[in-house]
Amino acid sequence: MKKGIALAVVMGMLLCGCAGNAQNSLPDSQESVVSKEESKLPEPESRDVFAMDTYMVLKAYGKNADKALEEADKEIQRLESIFSVNIEDSDIAKINANSGNPVTVNASTRAAINKAIEVGDMTEGALDITVYPIVREWGFTTGDADNEPYYKIPDDSLLEWHLGNVGYDKILVNGSIVTVPTDYEIDLGSVAKGYASDAARQILLEHGITSALLDLGGNVMTIGKKPDGTKWSVGIKNPVATDQLLCSLEVQDKAVITSGNYERFFEQDGKKYWHIIDPKTGYPADNGIISATVVGDEGLTCDALSTALFVMGTEKAVKFCKEHKEIDAVLVTKDMKVYVTDGLKNGIAMQDGLSYELIKR
Ligand code: ADP
Ligand code: MG
Repeated sequence: MKKGIALAVVMGMLLCGCAGNAQNSLPDSQESVVSKEESKLPEPESRDVFAMDTYMVLKAYGKNADKALEEADKEIQRLESIFSVNIEDSDIAKINANSGNPVTVNASTRAAINKAIEVGDMTEGALDITVYPIVREWGFTTGDADNEPYYKIPDDSLLEWHLGNVGYDKILVNGSIVTVPTDYEIDLGSVAKGYASDAARQILLEHGITSALLDLGGNVMTIGKKPDGTKWSVGIKNPVATDQLLCSLEVQDKAVITSGNYERFFEQDGKKYWHIIDPKTGYPADNGIISATVVGDEGLTCDALSTALFVMGTEKAVKFCKEHKEIDAVLVTKDMKVYVTDGLKNGIAMQDGLSYELIKR
């Protein structure tokens, strides 16, 4: 998402209009959007960051908050410089420019790639970071001279050729050396912000921070509770009315990460095409789910799984959630059916008029 400050302002206003829902209080964060803190709270230290093609807002309380946020900002910028497909000497750009040959990468890159492979295995390839050439064909990158998207529906023959070079299981990681087969390319768009949220949290914890809300463009990480002792409230957008909430979740020490079909898309001849690709078809994943939120301890895992659940579609995603108690999820289908795992039951407040089906484990 790269809607920027203007959206944050608009959404801030909109959130005020939502007062009265969600346990009668405003969420502290709505995906990429941070609303005003409740007035009784002290002012947190706050830092706006633009990185990974996204507007981020980092907020923390406590003595060393300012310094901690500055360090977290630096780390996020460092991660962008090694993860970005568009920065010439990034680890990922080097891997892509040298397909067929070994490339030495940073420890962070190795960790993110290893997790992506692991989640690829867990999800039968729904998450596949080698889908990148197809993502680029659709124009879902910021690749042209003006850094503007150039969306297009690729020719079937071109997609077919690229599909022949998709398969995360062909990536070789040997210590810090990564090799992808000739003509393969990867991107970490599905996991980078989740990884960055973990890294930022780690830095804040090392600075003794016990209360923080890190909003990395739809990827929220929370540390502890608010200074008043209540949990953080994270809003999830309604995917069919993105100026409204679907629900809000009360959390502490959790990542809350959403993949939605409204984050980056274009429309042609009345049909919507979005940036999450089904590695089996080369087309935007259209298997029943239009928004998948994953809540868990680790941002990286939640980010990888939110993309994967989106691709898997309703039936497989619900089954996956049943089998994986270590995470919680909110899944929204095309026909606006909402599924919520049992771990969120006590902390969820639906927007007026909306209900959900519980996934029991
Ligand atoms: P966002 O970046 O909007 O928060 P996601 O975390 O779901 O959303 O990641 C989407 C990005 O991941 C896409 O922009 C693309 O770069 C990449 N991607 C798209 N489809 C897949 C897929 N099936 N597996 C892995 N990465 C994907
Ligand atoms: Mg993701």
